[in-house]
Amino acid sequence: MHYVVLDLEWNIPRLRHKVSAELYKEIPQEIIEIGAVRLKPSLEATGRFSADVKPRYYTELNRHVEMVTQRENASLQNGNSFPRAVRQFMDWCSCDQEEDYLFCTWSNSDSQPWLQNLKHYDIRPKKQPLFLDVQRLHGLASGELSTQRSIAYALEFLELPLNEPFHRAVNDAYYTAQIFKRDVERLQAQSALPKEEKALFQQLRKYAYDPELCYRRRLDLGEVDDPAKIDNIIRQYPWFCPACGQETRPIHPWKKRQGGLRQQNKALCPDHGEILLRCQAFREQAAKPDSPWQIKADLHLQRPL
Ligand SMILES: [Zn+2]
Repeated sequence: MHYVVLDLEWNIPRLRHKVSAELYKEIPQEIIEIGAVRLKPSLEATGRFSADVKPRYYTELNRHVEMVTQRENASLQNGNSFPRAVRQFMDWCSCDQEEDYLFCTWSNSDSQPWLQNLKHYDIRPKKQPLFLDVQRLHGLASGELSTQRSIAYALEFLELPLNEPFHRAVNDAYYTAQIFKRDVERLQAQSALPKEEKALFQQLRKYAYDPELCYRRRLDLGEVDDPAKIDNIIRQYPWFCPACGQETRPIHPWKKRQGGLRQQNKALCPDHGEILLRCQAFREQAAKPDSPWQIKADLHLQRPL
């Protein structure tokens, strides 16, 4: 039982049109740095990991990435290939052992690049851990769950020292670990998390999400000549859970906005919880009075935290 606070830096294509659609679909972000801090069940840090990854595809820094990370193009020449760097990382965090652990990341934006890069190189960890979103935990501890704060904001808010530059993966992981520990202590002080280590791990595990589950599906429900027909379509549609496909029914009467052009409801999957259903009728060419109305829907399974 332990925690691995993980942070990834990645590059995206400098010029999208020079990359094949197939490659871009498979690996839209190429990991160029892996940083991590390992924590004991008491949340004391027991080690740091840092590896530069030499990119194989996007070998020139995208301008936006360059600006945000303050990196230079030459830095992409450092490091090992992704498969080698991942092997070192997995050895370091004992990922292949049976022991249960959680990945902790700031926001949920690292989990998809992680899975996509692993899949691209056909690397299968023995067990894919759940991901705990420390940004959401910070929101929970601060009573502002719907606000997304940056690491820099959270550090300042918690009066934690800022002694390393941001956007180095290992530094961001170190900062995330500091925030994580402090927010767990704040939640324990509010009696919102247990103090005992095993119970704490179990509760945080319940807050973590499975990155391999599909949380969102966008559906095309067809075209109609009259937008009022949206009512019939969404009442008859066989709604389902985006993660497991189980059929489910909307719970409430549909909540209507914009005279019924937008409608919202909720459904429940017995295995995965609450699903937000949003539907919309719109015209691509609103200026043309006889152009058809399109009905689209968005199924959004709520994450545990
Ligand atoms: Zn389900």
